[in-house]
Amino acid sequence: MITDPLAQQLIFFICLLATTATLAWGAMAYPLRIAPRASGYFSVANLFLLIGVILTSQRSSDPSYLYWPIANIMILMGFLLLRHGTQRLFRLKSSIKTDCVLLTVFTVLIALQEPGPQSNQIVGILFSSMAALSFLLLAKDNRIALAPSLNLTFILLLLSPIIVLAFIFTLRTLLLLFAPSLGSHMANLQSADAIPMLWFFVMMTLLVNVVMIGNALTRLVQKIRLQADKDYLTGLWNRRAMHQRLALLHQCWLRDGKTYSLILFDLDYFKEINDNYSHAAGDHVLIQTATELSKVIRAIDTFSRYGGEEFLIILPATDAQQVAIITDKLRSKLNSSPVIWQDNAIPITASFGTATVSQLDTPETMLIKADKAMYRAKHTGRNNICSAT
Ligand code: GH3
Ligand code: MG
Ligand code: MG
Repeated sequence: MITDPLAQQLIFFICLLATTATLAWGAMAYPLRIAPRASGYFSVANLFLLIGVILTSQRSSDPSYLYWPIANIMILMGFLLLRHGTQRLFRLKSSIKTDCVLLTVFTVLIALQEPGPQSNQIVGILFSSMAALSFLLLAKDNRIALAPSLNLTFILLLLSPIIVLAFIFTLRTLLLLFAPSLGSHMANLQSADAIPMLWFFVMMTLLVNVVMIGNALTRLVQKIRLQADKDYLTGLWNRRAMHQRLALLHQCWLRDGKTYSLILFDLDYFKEINDNYSHAAGDHVLIQTATELSKVIRAIDTFSRYGGEEFLIILPATDAQQVAIITDKLRSKLNSSPVIWQDNAIPITASFGTATVSQLDTPETMLIKADKAMYRAKHTGRNNICSAT
C-alpha cells in the first residue's frame, strides 16, 4: 500500500480531534452533568466517527467487511447520533424510528455490495447521499430548536457549517454518479490522493463539534432565561414576565385595538391555612391552585403568580363578557377542588377582580382597576367576582 506522510499525519490529527471531543463531551455528561443525556450522545457520536476513520484508514485492495461496510456504518451512526443529541438537548420529538429505518436500509444496500474497492462507486453514492440526508435533517432539527431564541439570519449563520456539509456530501453523490473516477481516491485513505478528503474530515469533525457546543450554550441560555421568568414554587410565570407580557399586549391594543382583559385573584383566609395546617400545606395549596386552574384557561393566556397568594391572568382577545364567563369557570373549579392534606380536605376559595381594557388605560391603570375590583370582591363577602367599572 502506497502511503503519504501528510495523509498519515492528517489521519492522526482527525483521530486526535475525535478522541478529544469524545472525552470532552463525556466529561460534560459525567461527572460535570451538563445536559448529560445530550452530551452522552455527542460523546458516542464522536467515538463512532473515530472508529469509522480508524477502520477506513486501514483499507487496502483486499476485500474486508470491517474496513469497508462496517467503517461506513460507524461514521453514519455517528452523524445520526449527533441528531439525537440535538433532539435530546432541545426536548424535540425523537426520530429514532425513522433513523433506524434509514440505517437498516443503508446497511442492507451496502451489505449487498462486495466489500472492497471494486464497489467503491456504488457504496460511495449510498454513503454520501445518506450523510447528506443526515446533515439536512440535523439542520432541520436545529432550525426548529433555535427558532424561539434567534432570528432566521442568525440561525442560518450558526447552521451554515452543517448546511455546507450537507451540500458537499450531495455534490460528492452527484460526482460519483456522473464522474465515477473521482471517487476512487477513497480506496486508500493513507495515499496522497486522499489528502483533500482528509482535510474535509478535519474540517467536518471540528465544525460539527463547534455547532454542537453552540447548541449546548444556546440551550443553557434558554434555560436560564426561562428560570428567570418562572415562579419557583408553582412553575407559573413570575411578576417580571407578567409585566413584559402585559406591556406587549397593551401595545397591540394601542396599535390594532385588540381588546384584552385581566383577572386578579387572591386566596381567601390563606393565613389560616398556614396557621392551622402548616406552611407546607399552604405551599401545597398554592401549587394545586396553579395546576387546577391552568387546566381551565387557554394556551394563549398568561397565568402568573402576582404575589404571595395572589395570581394574575392576562387574557388576550377577551372582552368583558368573555372574561366574566372564564372567571366564573375558575371560581367553580376552585370551589370543587378541595386540597387534600394529610387526610384533611381543605376547601379553597378566592376573591376575583376583573378588568377589560378601555380608552386611556395603561398597563398600570389596568392593574389598579383589577386590584380595586378584587378588593371589592373581598369586602363583599369573598369567594365572589367583581369587575372594574
Ligand atoms: P384574605 O382572605 O383577606 O386574603 O386573608 P388572607 O389570610 O389570605 O391574607 P393575608 O394577607 O392576611 O395572608 C396572606 C398569607 O400568605 C400571609 C403569608 O404568610 C402567606 N404566604 C405568602 N407567600 C406564601 C408562600 O409562598 N407559601 C405559604 N405557605 N404562605 C405564603
Ligand atoms: Mg388572601
Ligand atoms: Mg393577599
